[in-house]
Amino acid sequence: MTSAPGQPVALVTGGGRGIGREIVLALAREGCNIAVAARSSDQVTATAETARGLGVQAMALALDVTDAEMITRVVAAVGTRLGPVDVLVNNAGIAESAPFAKTDPAFWDRHLRVNATGPYLLTRAVLPAMLERRWGRVINIASLAGLYGAPYVAAYTASKHALVGLTKALATEVSGKGVTVNAICPGFAATDIVWNSARNIAARTGKSFEEAVEAMAHLNPGRRLIDPAEVAAVAAKLIHDDATNGETIVLDGTQ
Ligand code: NDP
Repeated sequence: MTSAPGQPVALVTGGGRGIGREIVLALAREGCNIAVAARSSDQVTATAETARGLGVQAMALALDVTDAEMITRVVAAVGTRLGPVDVLVNNAGIAESAPFAKTDPAFWDRHLRVNATGPYLLTRAVLPAMLERRWGRVINIASLAGLYGAPYVAAYTASKHALVGLTKALATEVSGKGVTVNAICPGFAATDIVWNSARNIAARTGKSFEEAVEAMAHLNPGRRLIDPAEVAAVAAKLIHDDATNGETIVLDGTQ
């Protein structure tokens, strides 16, 4: 294994808001140069700007993780401007809920494509160069839904189980080659995903928005929402950790 690059280059998908934004800023504080990629160009631009304020190089990129050609272009653009990707954070994700009978194949497919196939395509695009340099980190933002089942989220749960499976299998394949592949599995976290679900629950059940948020927080074993900064802190720690590989790191609010 070679030692970590002085200033690793990190590519964070879905880095414009929520957990991804916190990860971008945490990795910038660790001294990484950062590529921030998602569909909303205003959000990735703003996050990259904030990261630059922390003294690192940062670029904003438009990316839909379901688009294989776009992934190829983005990875090439990062290589030209910042250098090869040392740290890939597969954070971009969607989470919609519906009773199973009300879902259709497009609903299923959307979750699998964004939450599982996207990370596969991105990892496939950056892994060979990591292995060549004998240093790399792949950090997958999965979910407690990658480990357990819950009602009304079959497609999301299947997609996150797929991401955990990818993590575990690939970790065994790269073991001893300087690259680690790990998954972080948070419970409900304080981001748009929860705010949007709470709005839907409130509209459907007559609960207030605050009651709906509280109910979701209560489903976490620690009875509280996860702070995106907690997820980011784990991601930042993994950069310096050569030994942890193939793990599913749970953040369920009991910590
Ligand atoms: P947000 O909705 O705030 O962020 C999701 C991010 O993913 C956005 O930046 C969004 O950007 C991006 N994204 C979505 N679809 C695509 C796409 N097709 N291509 C590129 N980027 C995309 O939610 P969170 O911050 O909460 O979610 C981040 C990750 O954390 C997700 O993988 C989620 O499943 C996971 N997670 C979240 C939990 C929660 O309760 N909040 C709990 C457990 C895990 P844009 O729309 O601009 O493309």
